[in-house]
Amino acid sequence: MVWRRIFNRDSESEKPQYSAFSQDDEHASHSVQPLENPPANEAHAARRIPLHMQQALSGQRRKPETDDPQARLATLRRRRTAALYDAEQGEMAQAEDNPWRERAELLTESLETVESDRAAVIQIDKQPYHPVEPAPIRDLNVDLDNDIATVAFDIGKERFRWEEPRDWAERGRQVIRDDLVRTSGATDPLLPGDVPAALRDPLRAHLDASLFVLATDLRDQALNDEPMPTGLTLADLARPCPKCGGWTDVLGRCQACARRHARIQQLDQERNRLLSERAEELEEEHRMAERLSIARRRLADIDTEIATLERASM
Ligand SMILES: [Zn+2]
Repeated sequence: MVWRRIFNRDSESEKPQYSAFSQDDEHASHSVQPLENPPANEAHAARRIPLHMQQALSGQRRKPETDDPQARLATLRRRRTAALYDAEQGEMAQAEDNPWRERAELLTESLETVESDRAAVIQIDKQPYHPVEPAPIRDLNVDLDNDIATVAFDIGKERFRWEEPRDWAERGRQVIRDDLVRTSGATDPLLPGDVPAALRDPLRAHLDASLFVLATDLRDQALNDEPMPTGLTLADLARPCPKCGGWTDVLGRCQACARRHARIQQLDQERNRLLSERAEELEEEHRMAERLSIARRRLADIDTEIATLERASM
């Protein structure tokens, strides 16, 4: 049981945000004695305050509360407000319907939406496909003169050419190279005559991207002193994806599958966020409910002390 594990954690180690048992009490118990070394945060703030002000301030703090019944009463009433708040929160947390549980239920609903979105995304939709001619990719050439790469190859009658932007060399030797820019070669003549009208634009877009991937890969291989690939054809730029059936690039990567994976990752992150938020809500509910009896006892003690002081001052 997940909640049991969360609830069994040592709740004492976690400082409550709104608590009657926080700095106020600790400070009050220490403030009876003169402070040799003020707490770190106080020391930090004190450095910006002039010396005489520091002395005046610390004099105020050191003054024993019991000397002045009115000051003591003011402190007690302040603590009473905090204890009352804790008691009210505790009562709320012990009720069947409470804000923490309400928020947890809303988070559960969001989780269900994420789960159903994920179930829908994980279904692999069949992507459109149409093969292209196995036309040879010829005369591969990569030129690295002056550290500016140009890549060229022929497909059919088209001469394709890419260049790195000219300002590359001027910006010094950076590790990341600029994207290649196509300066010649048209994609349209590569489209097969029998491609259905509805697939013309998607296939052209795929080939544009796939040609760019090939040019970039050729440049990177040349930069790594690797030999140019041989026997490449246009068909290698548009093979069917084994998962979704759509087009893949020359490196076997599929855009539709990459988008699906990214969406699944996004949904998983969302699911984890919702799960931890829900756990926090229920943990907080448990913590507040657990503190109710202590808060009530505290409240009673403070009330007794206030009554005693008020009687004495009458
Ligand atoms: Zn795919």
